[in-house]
Amino acid sequence: MLRGSIVPQGAALKTVPRQADLRGCVFKYVLLLGVAAGVAAYLFVLQPELADTEEDLGAIASQIAQRPVAVECQGIISHAIDVTNSEGRVEYTESGAPADKTQLKRDVCQRLGDFRATRGAGRYACLVSELECTDDILKTVKAVHTLSHEAWHLAGVKDERIVECYAMQTDQLVATSVGASKRLGRAIAVYYAVEIYPHLSTKYRSSSCKNGGPYDLSRGSRTWP
Ligand SMILES: [Zn+2]
Repeated sequence: MLRGSIVPQGAALKTVPRQADLRGCVFKYVLLLGVAAGVAAYLFVLQPELADTEEDLGAIASQIAQRPVAVECQGIISHAIDVTNSEGRVEYTESGAPADKTQLKRDVCQRLGDFRATRGAGRYACLVSELECTDDILKTVKAVHTLSHEAWHLAGVKDERIVECYAMQTDQLVATSVGASKRLGRAIAVYYAVEIYPHLSTKYRSSSCKNGGPYDLSRGSRTWP
């Protein structure tokens, strides 16, 4: 062997990590640490917060369904890959009995869970004035109605037209239960009945859904919905 030769002939070359490779490794470790921190934050901070909301909303749904039922809020991952447009759902058994829980979209849960903290003065002024409501307010009104609607499915009502009609009449109860004043709860219920209900598809609407009609939950009362 010649003096000065570094590698004996035929021997495998020892690879020396280049700087770019090292940077790649460090980046991977940082990324992994970031993912781990995200999972930890989800498990220890966000998840318990949503668990509290699930418990609160479950109590409201149970009051309407007249039996103990639960609310399950959509998880972060399921939310990230979700392409469905239904805000909530209740499954039925083959014999037609409803499940004991409803699954709500993450945004619905968050809006209801945050209602008390975000109901600042004037925020819902559009509901009782000529002002046009923003998409954000409309989503919150619909979130209130979604819980009300799914609670009636949990009560065992399957016909969407009857469910919608009953739900309209318990929107005020749901709204006040998540933190609205009686006046705001009433405004949300009336807004849904006047501005949203008439535009639903016929699958959800019924001409019998009216004050004193067959689906009026308090026929003696003049208040509607
Ligand atoms: Zn439904």
